[in-house]
Amino acid sequence: QYLDRKSNNFILSLVVRKKTAGVSYLDLSTGTFRISESKDPGSVIDEAYRVAPSEILLPEAARNPADAPAYAPLVEAFSEKTITFIEEDAFAYTPCRDRLLEQFQTLSLEGFGCEHMKAGVGAAGALLKYVQETQKRHISHFTGIETYRLDNYLWIDNLSRRNLELETNLRSGTRKGTLLTVLDATVTAMGGRCLSHWMRYPLNRADLITQRLAAVEEALHNRDIRGDVRKSLGSVYDLERLGSKIAMGHANARDLLSLKQSFFELPGLIGLLRPLDSELFRADFAPDVLSGLADLIQAAIRDDAPAVLNEGGIIKTGYDETLDELIRISTDGKGWIAGMEAEERSATGIGSLKVGFNKVFGYYIEVPKTHSASVPPHYVRKQTLVNAERYITDKLKQYEDRILHAEERRSALEFELFDEIRRKVMRHHSEIQRAARFVATLDCLFALAEVAERNHYRRPEINTDGVLHIEEGRHPVVEKVLAGERFVPNTIRMDDTDSQVLIITGPNMAGKSTVLRQVALTVLMAHMGSFVPAEKAVIPLTDRIFTRVGALDNLSQGQSTFLVEMEETANILNNATERSLIIMDEIGRGTSTFDGLSIAWAVAEYLHDLRGRGVKTLFATHYHELTELANVKERVKNYHISVKEWNDQIIFLRKLAEGGTNRSYGIQVARLAGIPEPVVSRAKRILYDIENGHVNIATPAAVKCGKGGKRKRNDQLDLFQPPEKKILDDLRRVDISKMTPLDAMNLLNMLHEKARAIPAD
Ligand code: ADP
Ligand code: MG
Repeated sequence: QYLDRKSNNFILSLVVRKKTAGVSYLDLSTGTFRISESKDPGSVIDEAYRVAPSEILLPEAARNPADAPAYAPLVEAFSEKTITFIEEDAFAYTPCRDRLLEQFQTLSLEGFGCEHMKAGVGAAGALLKYVQETQKRHISHFTGIETYRLDNYLWIDNLSRRNLELETNLRSGTRKGTLLTVLDATVTAMGGRCLSHWMRYPLNRADLITQRLAAVEEALHNRDIRGDVRKSLGSVYDLERLGSKIAMGHANARDLLSLKQSFFELPGLIGLLRPLDSELFRADFAPDVLSGLADLIQAAIRDDAPAVLNEGGIIKTGYDETLDELIRISTDGKGWIAGMEAEERSATGIGSLKVGFNKVFGYYIEVPKTHSASVPPHYVRKQTLVNAERYITDKLKQYEDRILHAEERRSALEFELFDEIRRKVMRHHSEIQRAARFVATLDCLFALAEVAERNHYRRPEINTDGVLHIEEGRHPVVEKVLAGERFVPNTIRMDDTDSQVLIITGPNMAGKSTVLRQVALTVLMAHMGSFVPAEKAVIPLTDRIFTRVGALDNLSQGQSTFLVEMEETANILNNATERSLIIMDEIGRGTSTFDGLSIAWAVAEYLHDLRGRGVKTLFATHYHELTELANVKERVKNYHISVKEWNDQIIFLRKLAEGGTNRSYGIQVARLAGIPEPVVSRAKRILYDIENGHVNIATPAAVKCGKGGKRKRNDQLDLFQPPEKKILDDLRRVDISKMTPLDAMNLLNMLHEKARAIPAD
């Protein structure tokens, strides 16, 4: 009950064996159990981030990162509290395999596809052992394990996931303002978890993506069915968690009632889907079996059953005779006494005979002394009062025993009967899990359709030719949060022949970061099987999305940000393939202009030349000098986000257009931000200086010679020389005695022009 409904609660285990890293994770509350391994330990460590487990198991060796560098990043990244170190032996292949076989009751792991994953099986076996030892209860619902390959999905590394704010907001760490929040219109908790899974594991096979898209499209177009399906889904409880609760033996009567209601809902739900064609709408479980269980629960469990199991009140009357008798006894004591009284009166003929109860003597039959002679022999005298005698009979004694223990026996029997039903339900656990998965998928597909309709998304077209063409695309999250302002859609086209690396320039606040992220998010959404925020979208099948954000833009990082930025960039350069999509946002910003520009230039060049084919890259930069790259590299294209100058002010048009910019408008933005006017004027003057060659910053030629600290010293000095000094220098150099009047006139004219070009204070 304490778990967040829509998120999983995973324990993850990871081990590195002979350069292969194995990973496995499970969620006790849902029965999810997965396994994978890879020769690239980095990607497995990244997988740990993606899973975001609440607990991690590592071998003892990892305790000392110096001796086990493979684990160091994990040990560093996850807090001590979440890591449990367990003995090395627990990860050994053979005992681990045996443990899994025993759990799954199979002869090999072939059927699960992980027989030969030595490291993976080590991780899974150790995990199972840990759970068995700590849970001390049934985990029989883990009847199999799902093997997956890390490269079967569109890969988004941890940093990119965070940068793109898929599931958590960078600033607040909450779900607010994330893609998941925009897309999650699911009705059930299962659907919510499934959608988050789809977002973490986007597909990278065109046929599977198309299958989902087709289903979403059907759900979108069949509005009435969608309404009915979503309404029906609202009556289905969290089958996944209920099923696991049952299997672990801690489901209560209300859980069974929830299952009942859900099971009764399923046939109708399946019926609603009948007119639809997509295979994903075909149920792969047996609803009859579940209806049968629902009937059983219906017959047995009271609708007002309490949450506790030891106080009775669970089982309906009419379900079990013994129980009915017990219930009658314990709830109908008065009636029984009256009945007995009447019986005994007529048998003995003593009209004043009474049946009563007191705490000391229990039940008794009281007969006035005047009738003592008529008392039958089987009455045993127990107590003598002034005017009456009290007796007991065998029948009364039995009744007394029964009633005194009836409550107790009733609760015990109710629990027994309940447990029996629970076991019957448990036997069909895998059917329940299948139904849960079906409902979750259904919920996701219909939610995506719902979101597509609400937000006017379009179906993307997936291609394998490397073409990316988004017409009138929008940022799915920003378009929602813009208060009052209209989001300006943008068209972007990339391919592998002439528009592979796009250099996007534009002043701060123009919307560069937004357009970059919007492309990445659109590509991701398409790979999830979602419609996308655009009028038309052609999306290339993509294997990885990398996004890097320059140090100053990266709010979440602490010190030495530039080093971090460079490490991240190195990771991209080493791992991108020609089918990847790279987002570079203001890379090189965290260092001096010369270094930054040089690095940005070299990185862009490298990505263009990657493996002789290049990789699709969106490169936002405020170094407009980078636009020169388009002149030397054939697949580089310049774009800029246009702004309009008006009265020395700047208006953001937010429109992406071909071609570069040659201005930064930083000073106008500074004014917008409320920088005091003297600072703005001074900045304008310095800018003027630079632009007029007093300081030769950052033309590509300068990049070539600008090696680290070897810059000409006077570049720096020049920055602080007033422009008037040049006029003074010119004046000093003049030899008036040798000038003609015409020379003097020309000189005056020249000085005057120079003076006028200097901005007035
Ligand atoms: P840059 O990266 O160029 O500095 P951002 O992408 O951070 O600029 O955008 C700055 C702000 O402009 C965003 O917070 C957003 O509110 C707004 N914005 C960006 N793109 C658009 C757009 N296409 N339409 C409307 N507003 C936009
Ligand atoms: Mg930006």
